[in-house]
Amino acid sequence: MISGRAKDTIPPAELNLTGDEQRAMDAGPRPPFRMTRHWFSLLNGDADDPLRRQVIPGTAESIRVAGELSDPLGEEFHSPLPRLIHRYTDRALVVITGRCALYCRHCFRRRLTGDNFGDITDKQFEAISIWLAENKAVKEVLLSGGDPLTLNDRRLLKIIDRFRSTRPDIVLRLATRMPIVDPGRITRSLVRGLGRRRPLWVVIQANHPRELSTEALRSIDSIQRRGIPVINQAVLLRGVNDDVEILEKLSRALVSAGVKPYYLFQGDPAEGTNHFRLPLDEARRLTEELRSRVSGLAMPVFAVDLPGGGGKVPLGADHVLGRTDDGWKLRTPDGREGIYPDPS
Ligand code: SF4
Repeated sequence: MISGRAKDTIPPAELNLTGDEQRAMDAGPRPPFRMTRHWFSLLNGDADDPLRRQVIPGTAESIRVAGELSDPLGEEFHSPLPRLIHRYTDRALVVITGRCALYCRHCFRRRLTGDNFGDITDKQFEAISIWLAENKAVKEVLLSGGDPLTLNDRRLLKIIDRFRSTRPDIVLRLATRMPIVDPGRITRSLVRGLGRRRPLWVVIQANHPRELSTEALRSIDSIQRRGIPVINQAVLLRGVNDDVEILEKLSRALVSAGVKPYYLFQGDPAEGTNHFRLPLDEARRLTEELRSRVSGLAMPVFAVDLPGGGGKVPLGADHVLGRTDDGWKLRTPDGREGIYPDPS
C-alpha cells in the first residue's frame, strides 16, 4: 500500500551528526528519524540550519516541562471511532496513516506518527463512511495523518471515492507536506486523480522560505493546474522562523506561488517540543510586526489551539481602541488611528 518513494530516505550516517544529535539519535527519538533525499539536498551544512532543526533530533527533545501533553489537542477525547477526530460541528479529521515521508521534530501528533501506527484499514474507513452518512452537519473532512500521500495512489483515491460516494457534497482537505519534502511524489497521474475528485483543497506545511525549492514550486503548480487550491499552515518555531524577515519572505514566496498563507500556529505543548515554542507575548509582537509589513493576502491568521481540544483562538492584536462620541476608535496594524462611525 505504501508509496515506494517514502522509502527513499537518508541514513543517519550520511548526515555528519553533531554529538548532541548523535546522542538523541542513539536514544531512539519519537517520532523516529526520517529524512527524504530532497530535504537533504536543501540543507546548507550549518549545525543550526532551520531545515536541519526541523528534522534531526537533538537531546532537547528528552526534556519534559509542566503543561506538556502527549495529546495536546485532546484528540483522543474527541474520537467517536478509531482514526476519526471530531472537534468541530462542521468538520471531521481522518488519520489516514501514521507514516510520513520525513518526521518533523515539532510534530504535535507525535504520539502516533511513525510506521507503527500503520494505515487505515478497509474496515475503519467503511465505519467512518457510515458515520459520515449519519452526521450531515459535517461539511468538511480533513484527510490527515501522518501524511496521506505516503499511501499509493490507488489506495488513497479509493478512500476518497468511498467518502465521496457516501457524501457527494463533502469538501475534502488533504493535509500533506509531500509537495515540500518529496516533490517527486506529486506525479502527473496523482494530480490527475485528485483533480477529478474536487472539491478538494491541499493544505501544505512550509515553515521557512528555503523549503519552497524549485521542485516544490513545480509540484505545487502541478496541483494548482488541476484546479485544486493550495493553502499553507506554518508553525512558529524557535530557531526556524522566529524572525520577521523570514516570516515575511515565506509569506511573499507563498503568495507569489499562488498559495494562501492560511494559518501560522503557535506551537502546541506537545511533549519534548519546549525548545521550539516562543512565549506568547514574543510571538504576538512578531506576528504584529509581520502584519504591519504585508498585505492581508500575505498575512496568515496567527492562532493557538487551546490545549485539551478547546478549539483555535486567533491571537491578533486588538485594533479596536474603544468607543468615542463620534464612533469607534480603531488602529491600523502600522499604527494609524481613525474613527469609524456606527450607522445612525
Ligand atoms: S509531516 Fe505532519 S504529521 Fe508528519 S511529522 Fe511532520 S508535522 Fe507530523
